[in-house]
Amino acid sequence: MKMNTTLTEGEVMKAAYTRRDFFKTVGVGSLSVATPAFSASTKPHIVVVGGGFSGATCAKYLKLWGGSSIEVTVIEPNSSYVSPVLSNLVLNGQRTISALTFDYASHASNYQVTMLHQSVMHIDKTGKMLTLGNGQQVSYDKLVLAPGIDFVTPNPYDFDKVPHAWIAGEQTTILKRKLDSMVDGDTFVMTVPAAPYRCPPGPYERACVVADYLKNTKGFTNSSIIVLDANSTFTVEAATFGAKFNSYGIDYRTDCVVTHVDDATSTVRFRQNGSTDSISATVLNVIPNQKAAKLIFDAGLNDGNWAPVNLLSYESTLTRDIFIIGDSHASGQPKAGHIGNGEAKICADAILRQLSNIALYPSPKTNSACYSPVSSTEASWLAAVFKYEGGQMVLAKVDSGAPSARNYQNMFNWSGNLFDDTFS
Ligand SMILES: Cc1cc2nc3c(=O)[nH]c(=O)nc-3n(C[C@H](O)[C@H](O)[C@H](O)COP(=O)(O)OP(=O)(O)OC[C@H]3O[C@@H](n4cnc5c(N)ncnc54)[C@H](O)[C@@H]3O)c2cc1C
Repeated sequence: MKMNTTLTEGEVMKAAYTRRDFFKTVGVGSLSVATPAFSASTKPHIVVVGGGFSGATCAKYLKLWGGSSIEVTVIEPNSSYVSPVLSNLVLNGQRTISALTFDYASHASNYQVTMLHQSVMHIDKTGKMLTLGNGQQVSYDKLVLAPGIDFVTPNPYDFDKVPHAWIAGEQTTILKRKLDSMVDGDTFVMTVPAAPYRCPPGPYERACVVADYLKNTKGFTNSSIIVLDANSTFTVEAATFGAKFNSYGIDYRTDCVVTHVDDATSTVRFRQNGSTDSISATVLNVIPNQKAAKLIFDAGLNDGNWAPVNLLSYESTLTRDIFIIGDSHASGQPKAGHIGNGEAKICADAILRQLSNIALYPSPKTNSACYSPVSSTEASWLAAVFKYEGGQMVLAKVDSGAPSARNYQNMFNWSGNLFDDTFS
């Protein structure tokens, strides 16, 4: 099955709403200037913060659809991006970090996006001004925030000693190194965060990949693999992961709330059904609970752990002209790269419509796909379509595929499309 990464209504919108519409309204290449503030001499400046799946896609599509009538700047501290998608395959040696690393060369050369490799430290919402890590100030007309996630830990501890590997790159390498140093009889313990969290099948996928690696690649017969899930059951694909966990002999415990992590002894303490317990592991992989990235909290754009948005545009419901896409925003949609790519297109279209005084597209749809490797040769998949209804994105369709070698190959077609559509 070939998954298409561009199935959002953005495609439809693109047909109905062309660059000529935008130029006509803002007056570029036409005789009338409907919106003088956004005339050719003062092009609207759209700043995108974060160059992950959602931010990089949004910047690219803003320029594809808005052309030379707008200025787009991406602010991202890193000169390249390491994809969390497929990063569990680094753990079993099926992929390298460099194969999952993408730069922003196309954004600069093909789409004329300005790249600033800095962190945003402060947002002045009234003055529409950003302060960067080097002290530079950048003004914006529209601001898109796509900064991803932050972690909620029960106590401070050293992620280098107890890696999460939930933001890919150095963390993935640390966990891989620890797995490789295990000997038969050692114990691997990982935790699953309370929903909602980034990539619903991801933790279960990781447990399967690690179990397969330890048993079938390293040939261990005496090691234990223990999964402590904060949720009361598998959050997705219960039949698939339940069967795989059984076949690997994974010790799966539900309703486990992590209460303390000791990085010196690799011990996790947790509460389960009113009792307290603790386990010391040779390799401890705590995936902490999650919330929107720090920048969202610093700017007062959160309501609880996530940022509330209008799902027709992804504009913050708390502040005008600030849009929040990807894992940081609040909605019933999964926190995933594929759907972040779709949200980014809806957001780009909405911004261009706002600048052109065109009504927002009233019935956007998004779709999500997660392929889950469960060994070094088999993968399952889960796909969902969401549609806008009554102010929410509601689930319109869901489908899944059982683990197979064919799906393992299709996983690379799907991810290749997603990587290309985001970074090429
Ligand atoms: C193991 C694993 C497997 C996964 N598999 C899948 C899958 O099969 N399918 C799928 O769709 N998704 C999958 N995901 C989820 C997917 O990777 C995330 O949902 C996606 O990366 C979120 O994109 P984002 O743009 O919101 O955030 P990110 O990709 O995290 O990007 C955020 C960017 O913002 C930058 N940033 C943060 N703060 C600032 C600041 N103050 N100033 C400037 N820049 C800043 C960061 O440097 C970062 O580059 C998986 C995740 C994991 C961990």
